[in-house]
Amino acid sequence: MSDTLRLAQELISRPSVTPEDAGCQAVLGERLEKMGFQVESMQIGDVTNLWARRGSASPLLCLAGHTDVVPTGDESHWTHPPFVPTEDSDWLFGRGSADMKSALAAMVVACEEYLSLQPDPEGSLAFLITSDEEGIAVDGTRAVIERLSDRGEHIDLCIIGEPSSSETLGDTIRVGRRGSLSAELTVIGKQGHVAYADMARNPLHDLTPALNELLEIHWDDGNDAFPPSSFQATNIKAGTGAMNVIPGECQLRFNIRYCTEQTMEGLQGRIEEVLDRHGLEYRILWRDVGRPFLTEEGLLTGAVRQAVLDELGIEPQMSTGGGTSDGRFIAPSGAQVVEVGLLNATIHQVDERTPIEDLDRIKNVYRRAIENVLGR
Ligand SMILES: [Zn+2]
Repeated sequence: MSDTLRLAQELISRPSVTPEDAGCQAVLGERLEKMGFQVESMQIGDVTNLWARRGSASPLLCLAGHTDVVPTGDESHWTHPPFVPTEDSDWLFGRGSADMKSALAAMVVACEEYLSLQPDPEGSLAFLITSDEEGIAVDGTRAVIERLSDRGEHIDLCIIGEPSSSETLGDTIRVGRRGSLSAELTVIGKQGHVAYADMARNPLHDLTPALNELLEIHWDDGNDAFPPSSFQATNIKAGTGAMNVIPGECQLRFNIRYCTEQTMEGLQGRIEEVLDRHGLEYRILWRDVGRPFLTEEGLLTGAVRQAVLDELGIEPQMSTGGGTSDGRFIAPSGAQVVEVGLLNATIHQVDERTPIEDLDRIKNVYRRAIENVLGR
């Protein structure tokens, strides 16, 4: 059996639903220690993080990922039990087989192979692994990056093993992500009887024209790297349930996915200007989910692109699509960040699975990318 497959199965058999790590990082840490990494476990709140580094020279190439997985849903809907890694025809089934325990296994085995041939790389290697990527992501990668920067340690280049491939392995590499800004707006009115509307203030009526104006805004045209920014209302809540009562408050939740043509502060200012101009009385709670980032064409994008080309024989598409990832916490420190990993067709689904042959193929891509950065 392939080493990557064996290690992937060992990880999948541990039920590490966010923020649990269920011992996965100990398994990985042991392998890393054997390779000469200094392994540090950082327990922050409920979250288990691992930082491991080998060498002190520049550049520092970090391989990053998460051991946590999303819940399975009703296990009886799975063909095989989600935490019993199962080979079925050409597939490896199990929660985390695609997102992203197999990629972590591939990264570790790639390092083992690389270091056995080149024990003295031109730079250093690190692993940053969290158990809270799928959750609120406060005590995970974000907190580790803060600790590292407090002690003057900075990642130069980072490969994240998120499942970036869509149709075939390696067809897509993520070189950036859109920003995400959420808000909860509470419009304050005055509750009253619908028959005596002049004695009440209807917050739904106050909100509607302002919301209409927000929906009409053409934020930007996007740019070469990103699609246009988009505003989406996600939730409206008001009312007592009675047909004859004007509600005292209404709540609107919305999210903006934004490109590098916008700043978070700029978006907030523009939205509050609309609310103010419509004379709304309101409270607004903003949540900075993640700032946009873009890794320009350079050493890392070149190294990963070439690795995919040489190992898989395809020219990957450089994309900034998809949701957010922990790249949002690593990129702001100045690191070049690229995400490359397995197929994402079944992630978060019942019967999550990955083609078995892809495990060693992605391991070869990681090993080749390391060689391209740190020398053979
Ligand atoms: Zn993931």
